Amino acid sequence: MADNKVAPNAGGFFDDVSNFFDHAAQFTGHPTGLLNQIKACNSVYRFRFPIRKGDGVEVIDAWRVEHSHHMSPTKGGIRFSEMVNEDEVMALAALMTYKCAIVNVPFGGAKGGIKINPKNYSIAELENITRRYTVELIKKNFIGPAIDVPAPDYGSGEREMSWIADTYYTMNPGQLDAMGCVTGKPIALHGIHGRKEATGRGVAIATRECVSVAEDMKALGLTAGLEGKRVIVQGLGNVGYHSAKYLSQFGALIVGLCEFEGAIYNADGLDLEDIVAHRKETGSILGFKGARSEFSNSAEGLEQDCDILVPAALENQLTGENIGRIKAKIIAEGANGPTSPEAGAIFSKKGGIIIPDMYCNAGGVTVSYFEWLKNLYHVAFGRMDKRYEETSSMNLINLMEKMTGVSLSAEQKNLVAKGATELELVNSGLEETMIRSYHDIRDIKLTNSKIEDLRTAAFIGAIDKVAISYMNMGIWP
Ligand code: NAD
Repeated sequence: MADNKVAPNAGGFFDDVSNFFDHAAQFTGHPTGLLNQIKACNSVYRFRFPIRKGDGVEVIDAWRVEHSHHMSPTKGGIRFSEMVNEDEVMALAALMTYKCAIVNVPFGGAKGGIKINPKNYSIAELENITRRYTVELIKKNFIGPAIDVPAPDYGSGEREMSWIADTYYTMNPGQLDAMGCVTGKPIALHGIHGRKEATGRGVAIATRECVSVAEDMKALGLTAGLEGKRVIVQGLGNVGYHSAKYLSQFGALIVGLCEFEGAIYNADGLDLEDIVAHRKETGSILGFKGARSEFSNSAEGLEQDCDILVPAALENQLTGENIGRIKAKIIAEGANGPTSPEAGAIFSKKGGIIIPDMYCNAGGVTVSYFEWLKNLYHVAFGRMDKRYEETSSMNLINLMEKMTGVSLSAEQKNLVAKGATELELVNSGLEETMIRSYHDIRDIKLTNSKIEDLRTAAFIGAIDKVAISYMNMGIWP
């Protein structure tokens, strides 16, 4: 019999994830031993290394956690933040396991952390730190295309991923698949088109899918569809910026933006690119001419009037303390762990919908998977078949023209016959994954009226998939 209550946050972030897991596990019927194995972090590597800074030497704290080896390689980003700690890296690694399972990406979960504020280091120092971090992982067999494959996360991006790839390749000369040791690389270094924007694009697709279900929107007192829906986004980094960009491309209205220096709001909409330009020029979103109100406290921005809130900065932004003041009816979790269990329970009880992080921000790992495949294939998607497809479609059009006497314009012919580029294939794979996975989760929720939210449903689906892997290994009957 399932107990619908989620235990309060007993400890840290990993406890939160474990509480969600335990709550969902009650609906699965798997043996306790198997559930304990799935939940535990398999390998936690904590290390320290020195780097030269100015005239002195600084000791850097770092981690890599491989949560689950039910599939290889393991996969997960590296966070560069002075707030990183072991508990957080373990929680994020666990979320990666469930995330990969939800979107059918054949990896185990992992995560890395380097405890620094990147703003306090020169580019040369950051390069030194990243390369040394990579060397430490190589020494312990914690990185490799078939072992563990990092990616960007909070505070890291393409630049750091190229340093990792180059260090790995340098230390593994001649390894044919070496570039598959890390994803989120720049295109010029065997990256893939569409990876940078994939997480935010995925958040936008997930949100669009959620609001397309008319009966669910009716229950919230909203119309179906994104057109005109008012959105507040927290975080103007990779995930936040791209979520806002694609949500507005899909018809939503960005009415609020929150960054760590404060928040801005305009019920009639804000122009994202103008804000980015303003922030580049002044170093802040505050003082933006297009805003009607601004708040020096970023958290206040979350509480303004909107339909959809996209927290895309850090964990634990929506808690028991502020959730009662949140006006949004839908929370699309771009960040990992932005809603505490207590806040989630209160929000769901009020009838709100939370699109859970482990599904909502899975676009990044989905396209990372495509990048890894590209690195193993050693050929860009579309390279072999694009022109062949174009030629055969054009032959078909020409034949039809002859048979019917109807001729198409060159523009119409190109539209029909155009072969897919790598970016188009990546975006198509991402969209298919996000749409299918949303309905997989929603269908699980509908199987049992006691499954009160999409997060529980997502966990149930993920636990079942990981459990099947263990059973197939013959470890559990
Ligand atoms: P990022 O470093 O590119 O951006 C984070 C942004 O949040 C920065 O602009 C930062 O200034 C802002 N921020 C920090 N504290 C804030 C606060 N209190 N209020 C408002 N804004 C604040 O990082 P990112 O890659 O966009 O990651 C953001 C979140 O998304 C993290 O939780 C990360 O784990 C998650 N995520 C990222 C990816 C990815 O592909 N990058 C994939 C899945 C999940």
